[in-house]
Amino acid sequence: MSQESINRLRTWLSEQGLDAFLVTQPQNRSYLSGWLNDDVEGAGMLLVGQEHQILLTNPLYKEVAEREATGWEIVIPSSREYAPAIARLAKEYGWSGIGFEAMAIIYGVYETIRAAGEEVFTLHPFNDSIVSTLRLVKQPHELELLRQAGVITDQAFTHICQWIQPGVTEKEVQLEVANSMISLGADGPAFETIVASGPNGSMPHAHASERRIQRGELITIDMGARYKGYCADMTRTICLGEPAEKRMVEIYDAVLNAMKTCEAGLQAGIKSQAADALARSALEMQGLGEYYVHSTGHGVGLHVHEGPSLSQRAPEEMILPAGSVVTVEPGVYIPGWGGVRVEDFGLITEDGFEAFSHSPTQLVIER
Ligand code: ZN
Ligand code: ZN
Repeated sequence: MSQESINRLRTWLSEQGLDAFLVTQPQNRSYLSGWLNDDVEGAGMLLVGQEHQILLTNPLYKEVAEREATGWEIVIPSSREYAPAIARLAKEYGWSGIGFEAMAIIYGVYETIRAAGEEVFTLHPFNDSIVSTLRLVKQPHELELLRQAGVITDQAFTHICQWIQPGVTEKEVQLEVANSMISLGADGPAFETIVASGPNGSMPHAHASERRIQRGELITIDMGARYKGYCADMTRTICLGEPAEKRMVEIYDAVLNAMKTCEAGLQAGIKSQAADALARSALEMQGLGEYYVHSTGHGVGLHVHEGPSLSQRAPEEMILPAGSVVTVEPGVYIPGWGGVRVEDFGLITEDGFEAFSHSPTQLVIER
């Protein structure tokens, strides 16, 4: 549990003139309660007021929630219905204004809570949850876990580079990544590992297939271990033996240069749009801008995709704060040909960027 974050949430509640805040976003719930659980709102909700902090959950999770959510009052509503329990608690504690996470609640669930509390409280929606905002800047214990997730990811990648051979399928690589991470001490993969070989590389979010990997083609592997709830996110593009075309090397060098240029220019206070532009303009200068179809990066923490983003679509005033952990992941995707992506993740510091992924960025693996 993060008492400092709960205190900041309480200060925010007073500023907003609210009595309590309802947390339904799974990683926000994990962050505040210390109970790691990614399931949707049915698994539980938090209700935080000035004097009380309550975890509503159901009998399936009773034991684990009681063990992990220290300092929380655990409430198990009868018949697994949270809405009447919320109304009862609000009445007992005199809560008349309750904020909630508008982007993290199913409409039907919202409606049952609103109806149950009609006589007691009003619900106030917030698109940007205060808890997500608190999560942007990592605490020391979070940085430690993120660093360790990076170490495991690097070790798993080293193993894959020794193990991989022409003829293995993308799915076999995906499975080996997962096995390797788990045997190295990870909770498991933080997300579905992407293994995109040859022409499949043109799809940024390709699913690993039965395709057999060939010598001389580009293979993009996007992988990250999860360690005690915290996610790593790293991509490397490799080639088994000599690349079949000179163009592969040229594009690879351009993408790697874009990642390095961006990392060299990052520091606390840089605007999100400017951070994106560091990588984007490097690719544009090589004539590859039209093939760069996504944002440069995103925050990483309890969730593999969280704030802050490095994006040309980010609000003008959005900056990267010191203590945020982000990815830098430029890519080039050419339909019918293939693609290249390289991605590091690391910490935004007052004067730079400290990578948490340290895997080598050489393209060719001798085979
Ligand atoms: Zn990734
Ligand atoms: Zn990523």
